[in-house]
Amino acid sequence: MKSRSREEEHRLAAYFRGEIARLATKPVRLMEVCGTHTVAIFKAGIRQLLPPEVELVSGPGCPVCVTPNGYLDTAVAFSRQADVIITTFGDMLRVPGSSSSLAAEQATGADIRIVYSPLDSLEIAAANPGKKVIFLAVGFETTAPTAAATVLAAEQAGLANFYVLSAHKLVPPALRALLTAGEVQVDGLLLPGHVSAIIGEEPYGFLAREYGVPAVITGFEPLDILGAVYLLVKRIAAGEAALDNEYRRVVPPAGNPAALAVLDKVYGEADAAWRGLGVIPASGLAVKAAYRRFDALAALPVTVEETKEHPGCRCGEVLRGVARPADCPLFGTACTPEKPVGSCMVSVEGTCAAWYKYGAGR
Ligand code: SF4
Repeated sequence: MKSRSREEEHRLAAYFRGEIARLATKPVRLMEVCGTHTVAIFKAGIRQLLPPEVELVSGPGCPVCVTPNGYLDTAVAFSRQADVIITTFGDMLRVPGSSSSLAAEQATGADIRIVYSPLDSLEIAAANPGKKVIFLAVGFETTAPTAAATVLAAEQAGLANFYVLSAHKLVPPALRALLTAGEVQVDGLLLPGHVSAIIGEEPYGFLAREYGVPAVITGFEPLDILGAVYLLVKRIAAGEAALDNEYRRVVPPAGNPAALAVLDKVYGEADAAWRGLGVIPASGLAVKAAYRRFDALAALPVTVEETKEHPGCRCGEVLRGVARPADCPLFGTACTPEKPVGSCMVSVEGTCAAWYKYGAGR
C-alpha cells in the first residue's frame, strides 16, 4: 500500500477533526476496548483533539488487567513448589495477587523466568528434565494461537514436563456482558485491530444487530484511531448501527483461518472469571481433553489461598468503564507504577498506568 506523505496525513487529520466537530452535536461516549488503543490515544493526545461532546472511555482490553487475583494466587502457589519453573511475560511479575506477587516469590527464591515467546518455555523444559515448566498463558485471541502452537510443539518434541496455566480470554463475550449489563452507556466501540486480525469481522456482528451499537475495527496509528472516531460519530449522527472494518490492510474479513485452526485444536471455549466483570459464559479458553496432560490445573496438584481483593482499588470499575482512574483515592498516591496496588497500574497497557504516565487527559 502506498504510504501517505506528511502533508496528506495532516490534511486527513484536519478533515477528520472538522467532521467530528460538525457531526457531534450531542454528547457521545465511545469505548476503546483495547489496551494498545488506550496507550496510543494518550500518546497521540487524541482526547485533546476531540470536541467536548465526544468522550473516550477505556474498556476491559488489557489482558493482564482483567486476569483476576485467583489466577495470580494459583501461579504463586505453583511457584512455591520446589520442582516448578514458572515462565511468563514480564508484565505478570508485578501484578499483586491476594497476598503476594510473582516478583515477591522470585525475590525469595522461586524459579520464575521471563520469556518473550511461549516457545522459549520449551527450551527451558528440555534443559530442565527434572522440573515442571509452567507457562502462564495470559492474553486474548491475539496471543492464544501461539500458546496453542507451543502445546502442539511440546507434544511433537515428546516433552513430558511442559504445562500451560490458561487464562486466555475472548473479547466478544466480554463486550456482550458489558452491553447486557448496561451499567455504562456506550454509543460506539473501537475494536482491537490485532485481536480482529485473528477472529475477523463476524464475531462482532451482534454488536450492531442485537445492541444497535456501531463499532469500528481499527489500527493503532493516530490517523487510524481518529478515522475510526469519525466513522463512529458519523454512524451515530445518522442513527445507523453497523460494523466497519477500517483496518483491512491487516484484518481480513475472515480473520486468520490457520491461527484459528491451531487454536481450535488445543483450546475450547469455557466460562472464565474476569477482574471487574465476574464469570462470563464462554469467554475463556480451556485446554481440550486431548491435551489435558499439558494443562497445569488438570495435571498437577496445587493448593491455593482464599482470594482477597485489595481494599480501595477500583480497577474492576475502571475496566468496566464506570470509573476513571482519577476517581480512585489511591491513584497517584498509594498506587503508582513503581508501587502498584492493582493490575490496572502494572501493565503498560493498563488504564491507570496510561493516565499516570501521560496525564489524566479528559
Ligand atoms: Fe486500582 Fe491503582 Fe487503579 Fe486505583 S489507581 S483503581 S488502586 S490500579
